Amino acid sequence: MRSNRESIFHEKYDDAIKEIRSQFGRKYTLLIDGKHVSSVSSFEHTSPLDTRIVLGYFPKGNLKHVNRAISSALKAFEYWRKADYQKRIKIFASAVEIIVAKKFELSAWITFESGKNRFEAVSDVDEAIDFMRYYTIVMEANRGYIVDTRSAHPDERSMSVMKPYGVWGVISPFNFPAALTIGMCTGALLTGNTVVLKPASDAPIVGYLFAEIMLQAGLPAGVLNFITGSGNTIGEAIVQNRMVSGIAFTGSKVVGDRILAESHKMKSRIIIAELGGKNPVIVTENADLDDAVEGIIRGAFGYSGQKCSASSRVYVQKSIKKDFTERLIQRTSELSLGNPINVKTFMGPLINSAAYLKYQKFSKLASRYGRVLVGGKIRRDGDLKYGFYVEPMIVEGLSKDNRLLEEELFVPILCIAEYSKFDEALEQCNNSEYGLTAGIYSDSEKEIKIFLQDVQAGVVYVNRTLGATTGAMVGCQPFGGWKSSGTTGKGTGGTYYLGQFLKEQSQTIVGKRFGDREKND
Ligand code: NAP
Repeated sequence: MRSNRESIFHEKYDDAIKEIRSQFGRKYTLLIDGKHVSSVSSFEHTSPLDTRIVLGYFPKGNLKHVNRAISSALKAFEYWRKADYQKRIKIFASAVEIIVAKKFELSAWITFESGKNRFEAVSDVDEAIDFMRYYTIVMEANRGYIVDTRSAHPDERSMSVMKPYGVWGVISPFNFPAALTIGMCTGALLTGNTVVLKPASDAPIVGYLFAEIMLQAGLPAGVLNFITGSGNTIGEAIVQNRMVSGIAFTGSKVVGDRILAESHKMKSRIIIAELGGKNPVIVTENADLDDAVEGIIRGAFGYSGQKCSASSRVYVQKSIKKDFTERLIQRTSELSLGNPINVKTFMGPLINSAAYLKYQKFSKLASRYGRVLVGGKIRRDGDLKYGFYVEPMIVEGLSKDNRLLEEELFVPILCIAEYSKFDEALEQCNNSEYGLTAGIYSDSEKEIKIFLQDVQAGVVYVNRTLGATTGAMVGCQPFGGWKSSGTTGKGTGGTYYLGQFLKEQSQTIVGKRFGDREKND
């Protein structure tokens, strides 16, 4: 029996799914300097649920559009950087109100464009709202980042004043079209920077709607510009433009490394890059196995393994491996797979044909080099043949240096390996170029303590049945990668996020009368 609250949730989501269908096939534009701008060529945006559904047509932006968007952002920076921080907060508060009112509409778009089930889609929007609210709280708590410091002389007033850098390129991935696109833009904008946003080509609708909502909320024209087109052309043109002071990028290590290499040529360029992971989990003989199975299933197969936090390597102690594996296989075979609009669906489709082919390639490699315990096939029954549906898969018996244990695959393939001693498990866990998330299931205080002390990852969790997620939902829990998983070691969300979009100016003013705070705000 559904509670009243649950019924309202499902009703609103189902209504939104119906409502947005009438908007399918719409022609979208770029948004530059507050104006709708079209391009001579466009690309078809289809749904991974069923590629016969054309969600819309987006412009293929060109170099001229990128330059125009950057010029508009540069011009807007001249007044936006001086805007009172309280004014910026007010605009974001209005934007939050609009997003809350449109929450189910945005979630329905997320299901159609990224394949998330209803709970995951609504969580994505909720997370975006949390980021916006939390960053405004941080901005307020820091009083716009102006701090009186001790003066060297009684007649002097000294202050630390944090100032924005200028124009930021925000380049977002497909898998959190709301939370990450909006989170990164909010970080840059709230601190007085201006933005050229390029969303993932597989999920541009939410970014477009966000840019429109910000204008509606009172963001001045040119402060946020929206541009679509392929990463190799538009993304690269943003990165190569020397007028862009900062890049906030979330995406794969391959693209992140490219952006870093290009940006290193520009001395003053700031990069915030949150990248991929190859996330391990340790299950010891002291674990509650049902909790471990539940957490690992959610971590590995939630959103079809397409979360950066996704668990992809499990190290299980030899003495409990058989029992654990049997329970894991049982739970995996019970997962409901299908159209994510259906209320009972846990796993929807993969995002695109490239991911679909990747899954097929690696499931073949898995059966060649290991033992496949469950899954491994694509699903083409009924209407599923029109989308990118695949089974959750578990493989064991791979050699330590097998590609499946080293590379981020971003599909629902989970590798299991056994260990005898705890040190060995921790060593294998840390033996990766990545360091994004890592978990442990154990009731031993000693094991938990050693794990927390020595594990090399930015986001770690203990006995979490909700899976390898992060708590970023409440905004204040940081989510960032170590090693090759991120560049700053500070996470998205979290107390230190906003500071990354600001540079410090130390001001010393002789003669107290010039030093009143308001002049600097
Ligand atoms: P991706 O292929 O790296 O693409 C990310 C963004 O970069 C897209 O907007 C893409 O545009 C653009 N891009 C592609 N080539 C570019 C280039 N040469 N220059 C500039 N921009 C370029 O990643 P994805 O497949 O969308 O997302 C999945 C990846 O993101 C995974 O590796 C995942 O781990 C990572 N991720 C990390 C976090 C985190 O917090 N650490 C969170 C979420 C996702 P197009 O779409 O047009 O190609």
